[in-house]
Amino acid sequence: MLADQPPYRVSQLWHGLYSRLAEPAELTELPQVLRARLSAEPTLAPSLGLLSETVADQGRTLKWLWSLRGGAMVETVLMHYPDRSTVCVSTQAGCAMGCGFCATGQTGFTRHLSTGEIVEQVVAAARSCRQAPADHVGQPPRRLTNVVFMGMGEPLANFPRVWGAIERLHADLGLSARHLTVSTVGVVPGIRSLASKGLPVGLAVSLHAANDALRDRLVPINRRWPLAALMDACQMWRQATGRRLSFEWALIDQVNDSLSDAAQLADWARSLHAHVNLIPLNATPGWPTVATPPDGVRAFAQALTDHGVNTTVRRNRGANIDAACGQLAARAATSPHPANGPAVVAD
Ligand code: SAH
Ligand code: SF4
Repeated sequence: MLADQPPYRVSQLWHGLYSRLAEPAELTELPQVLRARLSAEPTLAPSLGLLSETVADQGRTLKWLWSLRGGAMVETVLMHYPDRSTVCVSTQAGCAMGCGFCATGQTGFTRHLSTGEIVEQVVAAARSCRQAPADHVGQPPRRLTNVVFMGMGEPLANFPRVWGAIERLHADLGLSARHLTVSTVGVVPGIRSLASKGLPVGLAVSLHAANDALRDRLVPINRRWPLAALMDACQMWRQATGRRLSFEWALIDQVNDSLSDAAQLADWARSLHAHVNLIPLNATPGWPTVATPPDGVRAFAQALTDHGVNTTVRRNRGANIDAACGQLAARAATSPHPANGPAVVAD
């Protein structure tokens, strides 16, 4: 592609595409003929086609629906907070793990995303951050700071491509490993692989139940890797990375929100020095059970705190545009509908 060009063009192109996040056509430091050639180069062409952008929370939450080559669709959510901007990326179109309360799980599995398709979601978010007007999102500087692999799909069931993306985000986009977090439903070999890598990226484990009988029901993959095996892998990850683990817990009314659930969860969390993130269940089309009401959320959080566990309740971002945890299903509908999730509980 650059064989007929002087050697410094390679670093100009690399710097332009990755550090400045420019399109080939915007690289005015390159001769016009070369810009035109690069713009037509299939390997530099975007692999995601934007189908829609939906905005909520006064411009602080943006959801993009993309079409992939071959026709599948995925979503990406960008969230601006006063002190950071976090993008939640998809790693698979659909998901094979079959958690009944999750909109992605309800659609089944279509295919893995490539490394490029994952990185492109982050590049789109970084570009959007750069263009975000300060009055929409609070105080500048507005720069993409965090990436969470918590969109559609199970990242550790697509390990090689997800790891490829992590390496590129770290090396090419300069994002620190501490600001990258992989969320898993508990794919034990994937957690072990993550632990064996040199980069200490964060790990969130979607637990939702602290005994095998209930977890087998809520998270079918638990039958393959039950809690004891999962916790062994988490312990290994902690020792290898020296980082604090998070447990995610979707609070489901009268399913996993009793004080005895809190006590069982506290036992695991204390033994692994894990932080617990509570997410009142978000509404999805194929799951009738509702979220724990706000009083119950407070009582559950208090019980964990009383047991000595560091606990937060996740703010419910983008529920009225189906952009909240577990609501991503890549439906083509673009119009927002009124919030039908639980009351917002800020951490
Ligand atoms: N597959 C990975 C990452 C994507 S799901 C995982 O399961 O961890 C991202 C997070 O959303 C997970 O913690 C998941 O348990 C949670 N989630 C799924 N459905 C949800 C729902 N309806 N309400 C609240 N959280 C949900
Ligand atoms: Fe897949 Fe995660 Fe949804 Fe379970 S919660 S179906 S693992 S995306």
